[in-house]
Amino acid sequence: MQVIKTKNQLSLVLTEERSKGCNIGLVPTMGALHQGHISLIERCVQENDICVCSLFVNPSQFNDKNDLIKYPRQPEKDAQLLREAGCSILFMPDEREMYPEQDTRVFNFGQLEEVMEGVYRKGHFNGVAQIVSKLFDIVQPNKAYFGQKDFQQLAIVRKMVEQLSMGIDIISCPIVREKSGLAMSSRNTLLTLEQKEKAALISKYLIESFTFVSTKTPAEVIDFVKKGINAEPMLLLEYFEIVDGTTLQGIHDWTDASCVVGCIAVYCGSVRLIDNIVYKNAD
Ligand code: AMP
Repeated sequence: MQVIKTKNQLSLVLTEERSKGCNIGLVPTMGALHQGHISLIERCVQENDICVCSLFVNPSQFNDKNDLIKYPRQPEKDAQLLREAGCSILFMPDEREMYPEQDTRVFNFGQLEEVMEGVYRKGHFNGVAQIVSKLFDIVQPNKAYFGQKDFQQLAIVRKMVEQLSMGIDIISCPIVREKSGLAMSSRNTLLTLEQKEKAALISKYLIESFTFVSTKTPAEVIDFVKKGINAEPMLLLEYFEIVDGTTLQGIHDWTDASCVVGCIAVYCGSVRLIDNIVYKNAD
């Protein structure tokens, strides 16, 4: 695996590979890698000649400075995990390399950014679009891999690719969970053992709520999940919404959309966790 720190070097190497007819896959990450990330890498390795993993903790997508400071970092361990997973190139730029000057671009994703994460993390998706569009420009991948765990992010990235006619295939990959059901996240390393146990209740309620789809209305399911989470003193619910998986707008009836997803954000201590469950899928 090659470790590359500059855009120019990465462009040079990838231009050479492309001229040989190689397909390029990209997995953007912020590091502190776990099995969720590795599942994306493995799929990227399988489906492309070259797998590029970017590791960059992107300041412009953090609306909370403290969250950025305490974000876990373990670059050496990450490099080892990527080597073992068969990744071809680790792109690990520093901040000056990605933002030689302030990025003032403002994206407009309409109603997709006016709900859920867009409400509670102001500017977050603009930062995501800034960094992902830069990475897409540099790497020019055929395919890019994103996890369904960040369901709204996937919708935003798809929209950006469409708006900018980037012609990149966005591949969505299923959520990888701990044995307890807790969705894997780099932020889980910030939880104490007790908090981790309590955090597993988030997926427990989501999975249980799935069994009510035929007997309860979306509003009743929302009520069930909210009550369950709120009954646990170590958890603080930020939102739980049942939405159309394409428009991300709330639904009133299960028949209102062909893809229906329940998205949740919960604080466990000072750690903010997100998760979701697909109640109904178009395909
Ligand atoms: P991050 O490093 O948190 O920015 O995540 C990088 C990519 O990995 C994103 O596309 C995430 O959606 C994805 N990802 C993070 N956690 C998981 C998980 N538990 N299962 C599947 N994909 C994940």
